[in-house]
Amino acid sequence: MKYVGAHVSASGGVFNAPLNAKAIGAKAFALFTKNQRQWTAKPLDEETIEKFKANLKASGIDARHVLPHDSYLINLGHPEEEKRQKSLDAFIDEVKRCEQLGLDKLNFHPGSHLKKLSEEACLDRIAEAMNITLNETEGVTLVIENTAGQGSNLGYKFEHLAYLIDKTEDKSRVGVCLDTCHTFTAGYDLRTKEAYDETMKAFDEIVGFEYLKGMHINDSKPPLGSRVDRHHSLGCGEIGWDAFKYIMNDPRMDDIPLVLETIDESIWAQEIRALYDLVEK
Ligand SMILES: [Zn+2]
Ligand SMILES: [Zn+2]
Repeated sequence: MKYVGAHVSASGGVFNAPLNAKAIGAKAFALFTKNQRQWTAKPLDEETIEKFKANLKASGIDARHVLPHDSYLINLGHPEEEKRQKSLDAFIDEVKRCEQLGLDKLNFHPGSHLKKLSEEACLDRIAEAMNITLNETEGVTLVIENTAGQGSNLGYKFEHLAYLIDKTEDKSRVGVCLDTCHTFTAGYDLRTKEAYDETMKAFDEIVGFEYLKGMHINDSKPPLGSRVDRHHSLGCGEIGWDAFKYIMNDPRMDDIPLVLETIDESIWAQEIRALYDLVEK
């Protein structure tokens, strides 16, 4: 069974996110548990937490199908110590917010070397930050998102994801999220059955499907291998509907959150329905 949803707004309070998800017919969702463009946020109070849990229950969505996304400011691989520490502190805070909300995953972008570190040295810093975070928290799996590889962002090769998993001490609390737009613009084709199978075979061999904890379902404005991150509505970009049909009929994507981050939120309900219509009976 597939659990499709979207990255919904938590404006007005995190407890609004499950309601926003339910309103568009979602069976899964992503959210920011704080303002994603600010470093600090006030702690979650008891009332907010209880309201979130009550609304989640009312939405019928399982906590396992919620994939919180961390702040865009965080760079666990930052080459400067002070900024790296600031990122690490903010990241640990985000994991704790997930814990408080009863959520078991946090999706994050690995980090960027800013052309001041080698890729390997940067990945080592990220892995170290992940291990520190896991030691200071409990119950939340760190879900590494693959990236388009724009600028100096790491995570655009399956090998980067595998490297981070390999360095993570507690393998039971690490996973990955594949974003279809990022996968495609990083150079892994998904447009034909042959290309899709080849990409997923490479993913399985290098990373392993046992680590796949979620997906972001986006079409792409830029072409294959462009290393540019620009999402598009499904069927409107360079990827096209076929790739989404393969995903919706691939049992390896069962029971994980499949989250739209497409650009026109007014058609999310339609996109969710269209994805379910692709399931072959
Ligand atoms: Zn992301
Ligand atoms: Zn993206």
